[in-house]
Amino acid sequence: MPLEEYKNKRKFSETSEPEGEEHQETNKDNERNLIFVIQRHDASHLHYDLRLEVSGVLKSFALPKIPPAEEGIKRLAVETEDHPIEYANFEGIIPEGQYGAGKVEIWDKGAFRPEKISANEIMFELEGSKMKGKFALIRLKSGKNWLFFKRKNNK
Ligand code: MN
Repeated sequence: MPLEEYKNKRKFSETSEPEGEEHQETNKDNERNLIFVIQRHDASHLHYDLRLEVSGVLKSFALPKIPPAEEGIKRLAVETEDHPIEYANFEGIIPEGQYGAGKVEIWDKGAFRPEKISANEIMFELEGSKMKGKFALIRLKSGKNWLFFKRKNNK
């Protein structure tokens, strides 16, 4: 139940975030683009949430600093709970007292093209307005911390 943690953390009677559901992967997924979104989240600490469509949910990471749109910048990405696909369209204010209270805005969005997804490594291409090209997420010491950076275009 990948979305259990997402649902347990939120009161959908109080927040306008989508309750959502897990989506079954279908053959049609091969005919359309998978998606990514980065949301700017002005919560108790301003951060950016990177979400990648994997196996019918949005695999999610919180970035304490602005995403690495250019080569040569390495950013910490902290793995967070899976979010429903519907969350990719969410913008709004999460009310005071609710989990993640603060303003959420879409910072970038577009196509996600995975090249390799393993337990400790995700290699992919993004085609957004700000994030374009080949990226990597590398897990640090089997914890929830990953390094997120842009790869050289030919690698
Ligand atoms: Mn967040």
